[in-house]
Amino acid sequence: MESGLDGRVALITGGGSGIGLATARVLAGEGCRLLLADLAPDRAVAELSELDAELEGVVCDVSSPEQARAAVQRAVERFGRLDVLVASAGIYETSDPDQLSDEQWQRTLEVNLSGTFMCAREAIAAMAVNGWGRVVTLSSMAAQTGGDAAGAAYVASKAGVMGLTRSLAKHGGPQGVTVNCVNPGLIETPMTGEIDSGPLAKVAASTPLGRNGTAQDVAYVIAMLCTEGAGFVTGCHVNVNGGLVMD
Ligand code: NAD
Repeated sequence: MESGLDGRVALITGGGSGIGLATARVLAGEGCRLLLADLAPDRAVAELSELDAELEGVVCDVSSPEQARAAVQRAVERFGRLDVLVASAGIYETSDPDQLSDEQWQRTLEVNLSGTFMCAREAIAAMAVNGWGRVVTLSSMAAQTGGDAAGAAYVASKAGVMGLTRSLAKHGGPQGVTVNCVNPGLIETPMTGEIDSGPLAKVAASTPLGRNGTAQDVAYVIAMLCTEGAGFVTGCHVNVNGGLVMD
């Protein structure tokens, strides 16, 4: 099956690390041209330079409306259009609610939820010009379970992303833009790098597929949602959690 992604232009927020970086690799393999928007995109851009792909990194804090707008504008300026947004930029927190500072609550919501909204709003407008687009947001299994290690701000931000995805799907549909979210389970990336091997092994053992996820496991599903063939899928969440939560 052809993905139909050859020549498409993809903006990947959080493309500097983990799931965003793995997605950049997969989309580059399908022939996409890429803009990686991250607080620190340079290492990823250097790492991907071995690939035969047109790509650029842009320093961007997605929680700033101006910077989100500028990233979308840069993609259109550099490549002439925008077809795909993967909104992977995110931060994690594990505080008990009574230990969570006001600042932590606000920053987590600003980056994970407002940042996703800012980028998606600008991206859908750019995609609507051509009547075709794919937006994939990153929620989390924690939004479905209430979180085990994850704190209240993280859980709330990711539950917000699920609702936002559905709202944006209604907005984007008439403009030819699908909007879906992926809900990863425990994925071994820099974000989960501080979790000890004991708890990691425990989660793996209770997962039907018997292991934790890799960034590539998530990247393949994100890429699938961006294909031409996924054009009648919108407003969905897709679990990538090895069967740990089924809904
Ligand atoms: P990661 O920490 O490896 O990568 C996150 C990237 O986002 C980093 O490159 C970071 O610099 C960037 N970033 C952070 N704040 C930003 C900001 N304000 N503006 C722009 N970029 C910013 O994490 P990951 O595991 O690849 O996570 C990617 C997404 O997947 C996140 O939204 C995360 O919440 C979600 N997720 C991850 C897991 C997991 O187990 N790893 C599980 C569920 C959901």
